[in-house]
Amino acid sequence: MQNIPDEHQDIRDAMRELCRQYPDEYFRKIDAEEAYPEAFVDALIGAGWLAAMIPEEYGGSGLGLTEASVIMEEINRCGGNAGAVHGQMYNMGTLLRNGSEAQKRKYLPRIAAGKLRIQSMAVTEPTTGTDTTKIKTVAVKKGDRYVVNGQKVWISRVQHSDLMILLARTTPLAEVKKKSEGMSIFIVDLREAVGHGLTVRPIPNLVNHETNELFFDNLEIPAENLIGEEGRGFKYILDGLNAERTLIAAECIGDGYWFIERAVRYANERIVFDRPIGRNQGVQFPITDAYIEVEAANLMRFRACSLYDAGQPAGAQANMAKYLAAKASWEAANVCMQTHGGFGFANEYDIERKFRETRLYQVAPISTNLIFAYIAEHVLGLPRSF
Ligand SMILES: Cc1cc2nc3c(=O)[nH]c(=O)nc-3n(C[C@H](O)[C@H](O)[C@H](O)COP(=O)(O)OP(=O)(O)OC[C@H]3O[C@@H](n4cnc5c(N)ncnc54)[C@H](O)[C@@H]3O)c2cc1C
Repeated sequence: MQNIPDEHQDIRDAMRELCRQYPDEYFRKIDAEEAYPEAFVDALIGAGWLAAMIPEEYGGSGLGLTEASVIMEEINRCGGNAGAVHGQMYNMGTLLRNGSEAQKRKYLPRIAAGKLRIQSMAVTEPTTGTDTTKIKTVAVKKGDRYVVNGQKVWISRVQHSDLMILLARTTPLAEVKKKSEGMSIFIVDLREAVGHGLTVRPIPNLVNHETNELFFDNLEIPAENLIGEEGRGFKYILDGLNAERTLIAAECIGDGYWFIERAVRYANERIVFDRPIGRNQGVQFPITDAYIEVEAANLMRFRACSLYDAGQPAGAQANMAKYLAAKASWEAANVCMQTHGGFGFANEYDIERKFRETRLYQVAPISTNLIFAYIAEHVLGLPRSF
C-alpha cells in the first residue's frame, strides 16, 4: 500500500518507533487476559504524547487537535487500541476551557507530567441513554460540599484514572427554563471517592475496554471541584465533544488503514487455485472500495481538525468525520475478515480483535442515528426529530 509522507511525518515516525515496542503479540495477550495495557500507556505518558494538547504554560506541548489526532491514529494504525487512553486527550480540554486558573494550576501540570490521569468522563446513565438532559444523578450543595446520589453506566477507564469529570443535575429539571440548564460538572478525585460514596462495578463486554457501572451514594465532593459556573455543565460537556469525536474519527482511520494493509498483504500472499486470491476481482474490488472510503473519511477528519484548531465552529464536520470514519473502518474490518477466510477468525491474526474494537465506534461516544439527527436539524434545517 502506498504510504505518502505528510506534514505530520515526524509525529508518525516517532509514534511508530514507540509502537514497534508493543507489537501485535503484546496487544493480543492483553486482550486475552482482559488486562489494561499499562506498559504501553506508561510509555506514551512518559514520552509526553498524552499531554500534546495541554498548553506549554501548564507543562504540555501546546499542539492542536490535528497533531493529537495523528497520535491517536498511529496507535490504531500500528495495531493497538487508543481506547485505553483517548480520554486523557480530551478530558483535560474540559478543564482547560472551563476551569478556574487555580484548578488549571492544580491539575494540568501534574497531568502533563504523568503524575495524574484524567481518563474518565461520566455522562451516560442507564435509564436515560442518549437523552442526557433527563439524567437523574443529582449533586446537592451542602455548605462547602456537594453531595452526589445516582448512577452512571458505561464509564470507561475509571480503574485506571485518578480524576473523573462528572455531569450531575444541580437544579431539578422541573425548575429550569431550558432542559439543558441546571446541570453541572465536577472533578471527582477517584482516589478519595471510590469506597467512600462511589462504588465501581466493571461491565464485561465485547471488547477489552475497561468500562463500568458507577453507584453514587452520598458521595461528597468539595465545592471547589465544581468546574465553571453551576448550571452550565451541559454546555461545557458539549463544547468538548467535537474534540472527542474528531479524535475517535482519527482512531477509526488508523484502524481502517490497518485492515486494508492486512487485507492487501494476505490477498497477495494467499494462493488458492494456483494464484494469489488478490488476483480475483471479487477479492480485490471490495478491498479497493474500503480503501477509497477510508481515504474520503480521512479528508473530513482533517477538515474537522483544521476548523477546530482555527477556533471555528466544527460541530458538523466533527460529527460527519466520526460517522464517515466509523463506517469506513467497519467496512474495512469486514473486508479484511472476508479476505482472510477462516484465518480471520484465528486470534493470532489479530483481525477478530481489531474487528471487535472498531465496531464500538458506531455506537459510542455517539451513535450513528444521533449524528444523523444532529446533521438533519443543525445543518439541513429539518425539524428536530425528538
Ligand atoms: C464500551 C463503551 C464505552 C463507553 N464509555 C463511556 C464513557 O466513558 N462515558 C460515558 O458517559 N458514556 C460512555 N459510553 C456510553 C455511550 O456514549 C452510549 O452507549 C452511546 O451514547 C449510546 O447511548 P445508549 O447506549 O444509552 O443508547 P440509547 O440512547 O439507549 O439508544 C439505543 C439505540 O437507539 C437509537 N436511538 C435512540 N434515540 C433515538 C432517536 N431519537 N432517533 C433515532 N435513533 C435513536 C440509538 O442510536 C441507539 O442505536 C460507552 C459505551 C460503550 C459501549
